[in-house]
Amino acid sequence: MVVELVSVGTEILLGNIVNTNAAWLAEQCALLGCSLYHQTVVGDNESRMEETIRQALERSDVVILTGGLGPTKDDLTKEVTARVFDRPLYMDSHTKERITEFFRISGKEYQITENNWKQAMVPEGAAVIDNDNGTAPGLILEDKEKKKAAILLPGPPGEMRAMFEKDIAPWLNRLQPEGIYSRMIKICGIGESQAETMVADLMEKQGNPTLAPYAKIGEVHFRVTAKAVSEEKAELLMEPLCREMQKRFGQAIYTMDEEVTLEEAVVSLLKEKGFTVTTAESCTGGKLAGRMLNVAGASDVYREGYITYANESKEKLLGVAHDTLEKFGAVSPQTAREMALGAARQAGADAALSVTGIAGPGGGTPEKPLGLVYIGCTVGERTEVREFHFSGNREKNRDYAVVRALTFLREMLLEKDGKREKGESR
Ligand code: ATP
Ligand code: MG
Repeated sequence: MVVELVSVGTEILLGNIVNTNAAWLAEQCALLGCSLYHQTVVGDNESRMEETIRQALERSDVVILTGGLGPTKDDLTKEVTARVFDRPLYMDSHTKERITEFFRISGKEYQITENNWKQAMVPEGAAVIDNDNGTAPGLILEDKEKKKAAILLPGPPGEMRAMFEKDIAPWLNRLQPEGIYSRMIKICGIGESQAETMVADLMEKQGNPTLAPYAKIGEVHFRVTAKAVSEEKAELLMEPLCREMQKRFGQAIYTMDEEVTLEEAVVSLLKEKGFTVTTAESCTGGKLAGRMLNVAGASDVYREGYITYANESKEKLLGVAHDTLEKFGAVSPQTAREMALGAARQAGADAALSVTGIAGPGGGTPEKPLGLVYIGCTVGERTEVREFHFSGNREKNRDYAVVRALTFLREMLLEKDGKREKGESR
């Protein structure tokens, strides 16, 4: 079933308010298994609205309109839709009573005005959806012959959502036996274009289930989505594709659980191994520690960390050699290595991550350009340093560095004895 959204209101059209209704409704409809191909925003203009509704009904089975159901003259959605369906309006006594009741409960602050009764006028044959949070009822107009329907909902998000959840979703569900089920495959340590190339054939021949990539900062997520009448059936459909993804990406998949974040995966891995961890950060300024400590229960593995922005602090808190800083500079593999080792020693931790780099906007030189970041990682007896070149702005570079650091630690923790060359760059 194809559902289309039409958001009514000049203030949305001109960008005065953000169209959160469409975003929310689209997500809800997709979850119900409806296909969505179009969304439109139209101002409070009679003829353009009529044209929009006609066009939407032409190409979609159900059109959901939001906004323009209010009591004022520029609220036209109901009148225009009724005309498109060729239905006269009549005064609905049930709605009239509800409006009277709504004002009675609201107290003295609000007075019923003559134009409020406009909201009790409904098109003939329409199903009236009670609004528990406002005065404008929702409406469902069906053309049974043409198998088309329009659903009208008020603009205020609180009213619209409550009505959708209570009455519209079940109504749509009856027409749409299949639901949408999905799994998220989260990958780290492989770039977006490489990841997409690795599954180009799978994406080409996809049907049910579908496979869609989502690029996150430093990560790639793939959503596997199946349409089926039950969750069990959907799982059966998704299983072969998920297995194939596992075969191709192996350990780079850190979770197949929508809710799990990279830092959570890393913290659970540390817990599993019984390792503690610490961080020594320069350019990320504590962001790495912050991300790790986002995880509830991170205190089992993380006790203390260091933000060592100045060279003196790197010496004082981490014991980085003065000579190292003089000779190679703060942004160097040597410093990154000493920072990681020093942090592990000072904190008495089994593992440590260090980050030192030039996040920008200033500070770059031809030898050490903006975005150059060294990340050190110590796990037990092993210490490695990786070199990165990021090309975002200051904020982005710092975020990338954090994700790369978490990925680095995860990879070191997963490597059993496969020793990698020290100072290897990526
Ligand atoms: P009212 O009875 O309040 O006039 P209405 O059904 O006529 O309701 P609109 O007048 O179009 O709806 O919008 C009322 C308010 O609802 C807007 O000022 C805005 O705050 C919110 N709203 C409307 N449409 C949207 C939308 N698409 N996304 C987010 N908020 C919206
Ligand atoms: Mg209005």
